[in-house]
Amino acid sequence: MKIAIIGGGASGIYSAILIKHSHPEYEVVVFDKEEKAERKMYATGNGHCNLLNAVLSPDYFNEPSFVGALLKRHPVSDLVSTLEGFGIELLKNDDLYYPLSYSASSYVSFLENLAKALHIVINLGDSIVDYSLDGKVYSLRYANGKVVSGFDKVVIATGGMSSPKLGSDGSFFKAVERHGYKINPLLPGLVPLKLEGNFRGLDGYRHKARAYLKDEEGKIVHQEDGELLYKDDGLSGIMMFNLESVYARLRNKGRYFIEVDLFPEYGETALRDLLNKDKKLNPSFYLDAYFPKTVQSRFISIYGNDDKLVKALKGERFLIKGTYPFTLSQVSIGGVKVDEVDPSTLESKREPGVYLVGEVLDVDGLCGGYNLSWALLSALAMSEHL
Ligand SMILES: Cc1cc2nc3c(=O)[nH]c(=O)nc-3n(C[C@H](O)[C@H](O)[C@H](O)COP(=O)(O)OP(=O)(O)OC[C@H]3O[C@@H](n4cnc5c(N)ncnc54)[C@H](O)[C@@H]3O)c2cc1C
Repeated sequence: MKIAIIGGGASGIYSAILIKHSHPEYEVVVFDKEEKAERKMYATGNGHCNLLNAVLSPDYFNEPSFVGALLKRHPVSDLVSTLEGFGIELLKNDDLYYPLSYSASSYVSFLENLAKALHIVINLGDSIVDYSLDGKVYSLRYANGKVVSGFDKVVIATGGMSSPKLGSDGSFFKAVERHGYKINPLLPGLVPLKLEGNFRGLDGYRHKARAYLKDEEGKIVHQEDGELLYKDDGLSGIMMFNLESVYARLRNKGRYFIEVDLFPEYGETALRDLLNKDKKLNPSFYLDAYFPKTVQSRFISIYGNDDKLVKALKGERFLIKGTYPFTLSQVSIGGVKVDEVDPSTLESKREPGVYLVGEVLDVDGLCGGYNLSWALLSALAMSEHL
């Protein structure tokens, strides 16, 4: 059996390793347009590579029932033992799993060496622009017109459009579309949000907070706790990335707001009492206990010093104007619709012998190892059926 894997990112390399582990006799060839495979992996988890999450709930994904069915077959314990079965030791930090080296680059080196040891062929540096079934075998076509043929199966692992400098520029969606696949349009996910509002004096300021994504009626769509990072035109930080992904999935249907609670541990009355008590003790500098001067003066110049200030600290509201672009996004919202593949094997329903894994499918998760978990889970589900 000869298998072509288009895309040598996380899901493509995991697929190749899993197939060769179970079937050393198969010939597996990976094709990646970049000069190096797994370029994106180096950037993951701020260079530490957050591989998995111990709480791999389907609810953290956009397609909970599709991902949930696969997770039932392969819960997180299976994903951990799969990596351990490759010889990868893991480090668990709260719920987040990293390689024991805590280094994305050593993890990539390990996978490269494992691929070599398993005799996986990796062809680098040229884009694949199409594939076709010629009789009983598949052929791949490079951008320069060269054709390679003789593949019994093709695995499409070309990713989404996020951080295109790291390889996944979305170019292969053109081919997939030509083959008739339905695609949900792609949008940047896990990026900062651009908001309407006054951010004077706040750029670069961080504060522990709770933030809500709310619709026009004030209904909570999603809530996150964590560290907020103010920018001069919006909000960033992991909590905001997650809120952005949920917002992007709504696809501009209506007006949405971000509401920020800088004192989630206090109710409004309790916060008013606390600040009044502090004000009595130290009238001119009581807010120094909570905020730097620039932040205080920004809040006071907009909201005054009393009731309105308490309300703003408990729930300042910003209209969402848009998101930061793909160049900064960690994941793509959208991709090939999941009902194009068999939910158990990820084999295409249109083209027998063609499989889709990883981010090329319309599956995305929140921050915290969910997306690399999906890369591994999808590769595992596909590979055990080959
Ligand atoms: C900065 C950053 C940090 C991240 N941190 C984390 C994290 O800590 N934890 C986590 O779970 N997720 C993280 N992610 C998300 C995660 O990296 C991706 O979800 C994951 O890499 C997707 O795997 P994939 O194989 O589907 O796609 P990719 O890893 O994007 O790989 C696709 C590959 O296909 C190749 N390719 C594309 N088109 C063609 C073509 N036409 N011909 C040949 N080759 C082609 C590309 O060069 C690329 O190598 C992060 C992402 C970014 C950008």
